[in-house]
Amino acid sequence: MRKKNYPVLVVEDDPVTRRLICKTVGGAGYDTAEAENGKIAQEILKNSCFPIVVTDLMMPEMDGLELCRWIRSQRNAHYIYIVVLTARDSTEDVLKGFETGVDDYLTKPFNHAELLARINTGMRIIGLERSLKQAYREIKALSIIDSVTGCYNRRYLEEKLPAEIKRAQRYGRDLSIVMCDLDHFKMINDTYGHQVGDMVLHAFASRVQNVIRKDIDWMARYGGEEFLIVLPETNVENAAKKADMLRRMIAENRIGVSERDQIFITVSFGVSGLSGKIGCENVVASELIGDADACLYRAKTAGRNCVIKAS
Ligand code: GH3
Ligand code: MG
Ligand code: MG
Ligand code: MG
Repeated sequence: MRKKNYPVLVVEDDPVTRRLICKTVGGAGYDTAEAENGKIAQEILKNSCFPIVVTDLMMPEMDGLELCRWIRSQRNAHYIYIVVLTARDSTEDVLKGFETGVDDYLTKPFNHAELLARINTGMRIIGLERSLKQAYREIKALSIIDSVTGCYNRRYLEEKLPAEIKRAQRYGRDLSIVMCDLDHFKMINDTYGHQVGDMVLHAFASRVQNVIRKDIDWMARYGGEEFLIVLPETNVENAAKKADMLRRMIAENRIGVSERDQIFITVSFGVSGLSGKIGCENVVASELIGDADACLYRAKTAGRNCVIKAS
């Protein structure tokens, strides 16, 4: 795989040295930008991303240490690796530099090969940081997804539903939830086996996710063959209509589980919600779920394959 290079910002007040550094760094295949003092570097860094900064220490307007202190005080999305190029090389100066957040330093007059070696080290560290962050993002995404059905899991539900409820209460908005339970699902497992049961759960989740509003509504697996759909900005009336549309869609379309077998399933639904207008300021997630669950229970006793909404 081709090594990834990141652009380098060169900060140096002396134009001859600056040009020399840029020539060395640019000649090794890195993109460069120049700043003649810390202040100008600061402006450049506010608007563009330079993961590596090579900076002089003594400069007018803003010196290298001040620039370094400013960089470390920022909440940058990515780490900035700072190499200092300086004529000062007393232990005290060097230690002060590291304390301020400098990653590496080189004394002037600098050796070209050594400067490049230090920039390469910076590139390696930036590359590692980025792959760690990428891995973290991937693990985080996986940790909220249910592996059988591909929809959000219980953990995500427990974190996000209270936040959705608070948002709706703060802005006086409607919010509904729909609890779904597949009917006689145990019979599917008993008749076709658990693998087919899993395929049915997956098919159900995909079908629902395909028809709810993208980036607004969401669905989580509550447990077993039970799911919860969250419908922000939706009153109970409309949520029940939506649930009935889902109910019909599921009941009318069989799920192919093998070349031979196609299964019809039905689902029961319980709907509850918050009204943005009246008396719902203190409702919490467990109450909303409890109400939806009670409705779902009534849907089961009413014969299944139906929707019951909270009054
Ligand atoms: P009801 O209409 O009253 O809801 O009946 P039911 O058979 O759907 O309900 P019951 O609670 O008796 O059975 C639920 C079944 O769901 C039992 C359990 O083995 C099955 N189940 C739970 N999780 C999974 C899973 O991840 N995969 C499969 N294949 N089955 C599961
Ligand atoms: Mg200088
Ligand atoms: Mg159940
Ligand atoms: Mg069931």
